[in-house]
Amino acid sequence: MTVRAWHRLVLWDIDYTLLDASGATRLAFADAFHDLFGRPLREQVLMAGRCEAAVVPDLLRRNGVRDAHLRAPDFLAALAARADLVREHTRRHGTLMPGADATLAAVEGQAGIVPSVVTGNSKATAVAKLSAFDLDQRLCLASGAFGDEAMERVRLVRLAVERARRALPGASHDWAAPLVVGDTPEDMRAARGGGAIAVGVTTGAHDYRALRDGGADHVLDGLLDPEPLIELIRLGPSRA
Ligand SMILES: [Mg+2]
Repeated sequence: MTVRAWHRLVLWDIDYTLLDASGATRLAFADAFHDLFGRPLREQVLMAGRCEAAVVPDLLRRNGVRDAHLRAPDFLAALAARADLVREHTRRHGTLMPGADATLAAVEGQAGIVPSVVTGNSKATAVAKLSAFDLDQRLCLASGAFGDEAMERVRLVRLAVERARRALPGASHDWAAPLVVGDTPEDMRAARGGGAIAVGVTTGAHDYRALRDGGADHVLDGLLDPEPLIELIRLGPSRA
């Protein structure tokens, strides 16, 4: 009997799923805003689960910037220029979610698995946060999708899937449904919308019920035990 090999993309959210960057993004936002507009950033907007491409115009508008959409690219560039600030702040003040490193290592050890990210962070910010804990070494970031690439998270899931399949073109018919692992209902909705299996994890502010209501196919009680996630990964090619 021939056992057919298959590949599977595992797409991690970053903030409050893998790590808590202790306000690094808000720090970079405040610094970039002051630099660009010569006054302090006073108003905040909801960021959890949202893409930076959507957050930035909202934030600029709330803080009295005219033509906020037109200024958003400048602001994103100013954020990218603060990657070192984000990395250092995360390294000094941030924390890894308990079990995140060991779970990533366990996932990395599974045959055929491509571990990457779908995150609301812009690429520069995401890489800065991950590299603060050397997590970038455990992830195939070329197959990921980032919050400065689309306004909506569901588009990021689709973009990551396309990238992974392009990176391994010969195996296009052998891909199992991707897994998205995240801590917010927004992550779960984006996963389902993008055709992925939605795996909620209670490392952040949302509990089992909130993640289930958001559309989670499965909910993990934290990451201290990698085995439940490994079992989901091994389940096979079809969507749950
Ligand atoms: Mg999150």
